[in-house]
Amino acid sequence: METNPAFTGARCTACDATVDGDDVAGRCPSCGGVLDAAYELDAVDLEPTTLAARTTRSQWRYHELLPFSPEAAVTTMEGGTPLVPVPSLAEELGVAAVYVKDEGRNPTGTIDDRGQSVAVTAAKRAGASDVALASTGDDGQSAAAYAARAGLDSHTFVPSRATFTNKAMVNVHGGDMSVVEGRIDAAASAFADAVAEHDEWHPVQALSTPYPHEGLKTAYVEIAEALDWETPDRVIHPTGRGAGLHAFRKAARELDALGLASGTPKLYAAQAEGCAPIVRAFEEGREAYEPWDAPDTICGRIEIPDPAGGNLALDAIRETGGGAVAAPDPETLEGATSLAGTAGLELSASSGTAVAAAYALAERGELDADDTLVLVNAGAGSKDDDVLRSHLMSKGI
Ligand SMILES: [Zn+2]
Repeated sequence: METNPAFTGARCTACDATVDGDDVAGRCPSCGGVLDAAYELDAVDLEPTTLAARTTRSQWRYHELLPFSPEAAVTTMEGGTPLVPVPSLAEELGVAAVYVKDEGRNPTGTIDDRGQSVAVTAAKRAGASDVALASTGDDGQSAAAYAARAGLDSHTFVPSRATFTNKAMVNVHGGDMSVVEGRIDAAASAFADAVAEHDEWHPVQALSTPYPHEGLKTAYVEIAEALDWETPDRVIHPTGRGAGLHAFRKAARELDALGLASGTPKLYAAQAEGCAPIVRAFEEGREAYEPWDAPDTICGRIEIPDPAGGNLALDAIRETGGGAVAAPDPETLEGATSLAGTAGLELSASSGTAVAAAYALAERGELDADDTLVLVNAGAGSKDDDVLRSHLMSKGI
């Protein structure tokens, strides 16, 4: 059997329409909204002891909460990343515990490996010959890797500012790549034009089908399992498209429904001050974000001026009682390099926003002394070695 028997299809996050069947693709046929994978959770019997007995550390150990069976999965053993305690930061922030969920340790060094594993599995099952996406870099590299694994062709559209590592590794995985002059909106527009001419291209971009964000969900399930099924108080997620926050809320709800871990953590979006449409909408109390006019941040991976999951992320942070913080680039780079220098951890430059946000929340008095705080490192610091090193040089180090 290739699918999870509890997987029923999809539900629209905007109009609540349901789409039945195990071959759902694309966006909502009624309203164009983002689709979420849906499950008959009453039919799922999952106990901590069952999970503890499983030897695989890949994200497919949680196959009851994924659409497909582990046997059908296109996987390079993504997931199983550590939740690393950082007691020195906990002391500085005045909270009980701080952990970094280190997603840089995934196969291509990004949390996106989880999503691409599920998305490329779906594409392969659908009989696709090609997968395609526009990317700021990391999910493009990841898609090229998983397409290679599945024997599919991949087409990645990246802005010229994407890092050398991302571009080089798309090539190394044998992917077809278009480097588009400008920023992510230019790459997205070139991608849309190309997709219109290629019916055979199966989209694997975040939120374009129910699958990429479904994979991101397992990062939160691992956090809960690592905390012995205690729900952390707050989770800060570096945020571009908003898919991660939406996925984490979905994961927490499903764990709650299954009785594995109760409630949801307070979820926080950490964005770059030079491109912070979600933070701006949150601070202004608006229900929907407005696209950011002139994005300008060193954090290329999360520089998304018109985020597809922006309103879902807003919902997630409001519903959970969390918040949103815009971090100036120097504080972001300081956040990433300080954890490298004091805790030995390698955070991507963009994930430095989560560290900067934690300091900002502490300064505002929004953290409690008994808090367990989780910061998500979405990608490997070594992919941003030049940016991080330059920050030190700017300080004369
Ligand atoms: Zn809809």
